[in-house]
Parts: sequence; C-alpha cells; structure tokens
Amino acid sequence: MKRLALHWQIMIGLVLGAIWAIISSYLGWSEFTIDWIKPWGDIFIRILKLIAVPLVLLSIINGISNLTDVSKLGRLGVKTLGFYVVTTVIAVSIGLGLVNSFQPGNKVDPGKKKEMIANFERNLEGSDISQKLADKKSDAQKMKEGGPMQFIVDLFPQNIFFSLTNNILMLQVIVFSILFGIGLTLIPPEKGKPVKAFMEGANEVILKLVELVMNAAPFFVFALLAGIMAKMAGNDPGLLVDIFAGLSWYALTVVVGLLILILVVYPTIIQLLVRPLNYRSFFKGIGQAQIVAFSTSSSAATLPVTMDCVKDRLGVSKDITSFVLPVGATVNMDGTSLYQGITAVFLAQFFGYDLSLGQQLTIVFTATLASIGAPAVPSAGLVMLIIVLESVGLPAAWIGLIFPIDRPLDMLRTVVNVTGDATAASVIAQSEGEIRGINS
Ligand code: ASP
Repeated sequence: MKRLALHWQIMIGLVLGAIWAIISSYLGWSEFTIDWIKPWGDIFIRILKLIAVPLVLLSIINGISNLTDVSKLGRLGVKTLGFYVVTTVIAVSIGLGLVNSFQPGNKVDPGKKKEMIANFERNLEGSDISQKLADKKSDAQKMKEGGPMQFIVDLFPQNIFFSLTNNILMLQVIVFSILFGIGLTLIPPEKGKPVKAFMEGANEVILKLVELVMNAAPFFVFALLAGIMAKMAGNDPGLLVDIFAGLSWYALTVVVGLLILILVVYPTIIQLLVRPLNYRSFFKGIGQAQIVAFSTSSSAATLPVTMDCVKDRLGVSKDITSFVLPVGATVNMDGTSLYQGITAVFLAQFFGYDLSLGQQLTIVFTATLASIGAPAVPSAGLVMLIIVLESVGLPAAWIGLIFPIDRPLDMLRTVVNVTGDATAASVIAQSEGEIRGINS
C-alpha cells in the first residue's frame, strides 16, 4: 500500500491533537495530557531549535565559501532586505486598512466590554499577568534603549560562543558566519580545503537530522497541539469559547488580514514573478513548513524545515536558501507586522481613543521596525507591540486584554511569516536564475 505523503500525516497529527485536547478536556484528563503528552511537543521544539543554530552557521559558511563571485553577496543582501521591507510595509498597511474599516474595537457589546475591562483590571493587580507584563515590558525596553544605531551595533557579536548559546541572537550568528565564510574564501586554497570539507560534512549531518526528526513530526505535532490546547482550556472547555467571544471581531480582523497575505498577496507574487512555480506547487512544496510553523509558533524553530522544503521541494539553490531564509526568519515577519498594526488600532478603538492619520503612519513605521526587531519565537510580536503602542502614546498595559488570545493568533501569524520567507527566497532565486521548480 502506498504510504500517505508526510505533509498529510502531519496534518492528521494536528487534527488528532486538537480532537484529543477537546475530548480530554471534557473528560477532565487535561492534567494527564499536560503531564504525559505535552512534553513530547516540547522535545520537538527543543530538537528543532537545537538544529537551527548549527544549520544556520554551517549552511551560510558553506554557501559563502563556495561563492565564485563575492559581489553576489552584496547583491543578495540588497535584494533580500529590499523585498522584506516592502512586503512588511504592505502587510501593516493591509492591517490598518482592515482595522479601520471593520472597526472591531467598536463592535464589542458595551456590557461585554465593561465586563472585559473589569476582568482585565482585576487580573492585572498583582497577578500572573502583571508579572508577565512587567517582564515583557522590560524586554521591550531593553530593545528600545540605545541610540538609532543600536540595532546595527547589536548585529555584531563580541563573543560568538555567547551568541551561539542564545537563541534570540540568530542575527549575530549570521554575521559571524558571513565573516567566517568570506575569510575562508580569502585564504590560500590548500589551507581552506580541510576547513571546507569539515563544514560540508557537518552540514550534511545536520540535514540528515532534519530529515530524521521530520519523519516523527506527525506524532510530535499531535503532542504539541494537544498540549497547547489542554493548557489553554484546562478542564473547562467552555473557557476557550469565553476567551474568544469578546475578542471575536478583533480575532476575525487579524485572521482576514493573514488570509489576504497568504491567499492573495503571496500567490500573486509567485504567479507573476516566479516562472517555474505556480501558487499550487508553491503551497504543496512548503506545506510541511507551514504546519510546523503553526504548531511551534516559532519561525526560528521552523527554520530547518523551511530550508529543507525550499531547497529540496521548490528547487531553490543552496546559496539562496542558506542566506535568504535565516535572515528572513528573524527579519521578515509580515504576519507579525500586520497583527501589530491591527492590534494597536483595535486597542485604541476599544478604550475609546481616536488615532490621527499621523499616528497611524507612526504605527506603520514602528510596526515595521518592531517586526524586524522581534525575535522569531512565540509571543515575540506581542512583546514588541509595547513599542508600537508607546510610540503613539498608548499605555503598554493594554496588551493584557489580548494576552488570552495571543497563542492561536501567534500560530497563524507564524505560518504567514514563514510563507513570506519562502516567497522571498523563490523570488530572489528567480531573479538570479537559481530556481529549478517543484520536486515533490
Ligand atoms: N512567533 C512569531 C514567529 O516566530 C513572532 C511573533 O510573535 O509574531 O514568527
């Protein structure tokens, strides 16, 4: 009998995970799910993160040391960053267009609104939320301190071992790898040869690990989703419904925005600009990465799978994959910037503040920067939202209102972030004549 394709198996794992969580919540088994099933999901995320850093390091060094023409590096850099900034600004603008037309903050029933605000204020006092908020605020503060050049300064590691051991410092690992790769091309070939051979071999090992772990992905994804949902609902499934009720218009606006990106913007770009692909083959090729993004909520953890799909299934060259995707995982977050634009305006509407056109333009600017600066980990977009809110004089504490619904939205925006990275890699590969087309 023919075996079901892996992406279908993973999809089935995802659906079964959700079904399991609902049943176990009804039967009062959530604790069992959290104690015995969720840990397998945690292990999956750990393995992916474990693979991501050496993969970025080795693939960039390999890619650069094999470049015959070093000026290509500068060209790729300009194209990649240009594409990322343009799509991010498009995403925030779509978000702002939607939130201003849907007005989700004005659609909440006044009685429900009062209840939500009272709930939010009660929860805020001395609770878990206020602690989390304080932590998140200080994270965002740290990123905001320093002059206008701080972002550039922070790209450069002072100790590569420190950067390698800190998952949010991926950009520093990328800078080190680029420098090392350039150095390797400049030394005499006989000295560089053993270093290159080692890097190539080690890279193969890491790629093999990605393949192995993906074979077990259906089970891991089941565990991840069951664990996440069981944690959200506990033994009271009605809680999930309650959480969504007051915020449903807001959530719907975000979902519509994300769907526009995924079903209209990216397919149009692919259809118009990338000849060897059409939107169908594109989605078929990156399906696995999208499901892993959905279940892990982390573009960084998904990176090994994204690289695998884009290189092997979309047929993008190694050079492009190993440069564009690691940079994209941290820098390019269209889903996050769209979400930040919508959320800032939603909160202003909810609490009765009118935002001027100037303030909305400020949101476009800060949401673009905040999504670039957000690390590719769960909830990063929420943390950076503090900066967006403060840029237009709104209180950061308001994010407490949307805390409860952040995880499902995070899962969805991470899918968009990863799809945006794959789109960029395909477009840039096409412009360099380095895409072969679908290979499933
Ligand atoms: N979780 C998202 C990502 O890794 C970032 C975010 O929170 O929006 O892409």
